[in-house]
Amino acid sequence: MAEQVESIKWIPNTRFLVDGFRFQSPRCSSYFLTHMHGDHYCGLTKSFGAGHLEAVIYCSKITAALLTHDFGLPPRRVRALPMDQPVSIDGVRVTLIDANHCPGAVMFFFDFSHRTAKVSPEAILHTGDMRWHARMGQHPALCGRRIDLLLMDTTYGAPKHVHPPQEEAVALIVDTMRKEVAARPRTLFVVGSYRIGKERAYLGAARAMGWRVFCNADKRKVLGLLDLPAADMALVTGDKKAARVHVVAMGQAQMSPEALTSRCTAAGYSHVVGFRPTGWTFRKSGGLEVRREGCATIYGVPYSEHSNFEELRDCVRTLHPSRLVPTVNAANMTASRAMVDKFADLMDLRKDRSRLDHYLRPAATAPPASERQGSDHPTALRGGDPPAAQLPHSRSAPLTGDCGSAGGASEAMVLADVDLVEQQRLQPAVKPEMAAAQPRKWAKAAPAAPCGSSKRRQLTLGSFFGKGAQR
Ligand SMILES: [Zn+2]
Repeated sequence: MAEQVESIKWIPNTRFLVDGFRFQSPRCSSYFLTHMHGDHYCGLTKSFGAGHLEAVIYCSKITAALLTHDFGLPPRRVRALPMDQPVSIDGVRVTLIDANHCPGAVMFFFDFSHRTAKVSPEAILHTGDMRWHARMGQHPALCGRRIDLLLMDTTYGAPKHVHPPQEEAVALIVDTMRKEVAARPRTLFVVGSYRIGKERAYLGAARAMGWRVFCNADKRKVLGLLDLPAADMALVTGDKKAARVHVVAMGQAQMSPEALTSRCTAAGYSHVVGFRPTGWTFRKSGGLEVRREGCATIYGVPYSEHSNFEELRDCVRTLHPSRLVPTVNAANMTASRAMVDKFADLMDLRKDRSRLDHYLRPAATAPPASERQGSDHPTALRGGDPPAAQLPHSRSAPLTGDCGSAGGASEAMVLADVDLVEQQRLQPAVKPEMAAAQPRKWAKAAPAAPCGSSKRRQLTLGSFFGKGAQR
């Protein structure tokens, strides 16, 4: 659920708001909408722009169609931008990149690098909601670019979130369908869905099984706006009896055993199986979450349209941002800082004075080494660690001790990227010979540079999300 905090809705050095309709203001020249989920367009009404003649919403073509459909906004208020091509808005180059979330969801890349008068930050990526895939890092707009500011969807920003790729989750649904039909041939399947989202789960499974998919009239109308492949749309029907898969709202009202049983009986089946596709149902022990009641069985399937924790780490590792702003699970400074700490070892912190001041300050209360051991990564802070602002640090441990040991690991993480001159200016107490030794010793901990090989640069937009992309 995207945080409703005004400060993270404004794009620095612009008059742009992203997913910030609750904070509409005459100061805003352009509104950007990443995708059509309620926690991103909240605050938007049919009277958007009243009293503000220039107010325009920039978004993808699919989101524009949904905005027009749902809010009846006049065309002058909604402007669909092309995918993958930079467009100049108020002198800023804006590129829309597929966010691999729901249909129409995009990331916005704001690029100021062409300007004669330099500004900082110069390269800003707002992910909206996204499921990160390695191919995103090879996008022509991002490949080889250093991102100064990354606003990232941190819905699953904790190490415990390890839900599988979507293809595997869909395969789990298909496998379960086959087993259920083999055991009880007269079984109806019901899949929970959001108004927009989860299409790959139910259409992918139905395609694999060769079955039709029932959706009510409103849902079919919405699906018709999503630019889905014709082969998928051909599976969709308004005839309940012709479909072995029914799509319903994810909420309890239609996914309860009682509601499923009622639907099963009305459709003339003996059994019914419901699927709830969401990353929150992931079980570390493996297998699917299951509930049986009468003729109804309900499975929780770890199908997610948000990145798991490792994918988030890969995103930060690839983009190597100087600043990271979490947009989910970060309602206040403490929560935000704690979230950033989980990715700090992958960031370029050379320009972040606040972190330098913190990590380099003398610490009177260094914790015993035993309390600092146990991280699964030598430079990573664990999810349960307190925010950096509360972390005590010992100067002596990282500067004179063995950097490969667990003690002082987080200090090594930050110093790996510290410019030596800047480091000495901030911390004159550091002895020169010690400081001089640091870059060599900690260089191994520095993240790899973002991609930039000529081979990768040759990728065409058409091949960006080819077959095999994790969707
Ligand atoms: Zn979303």
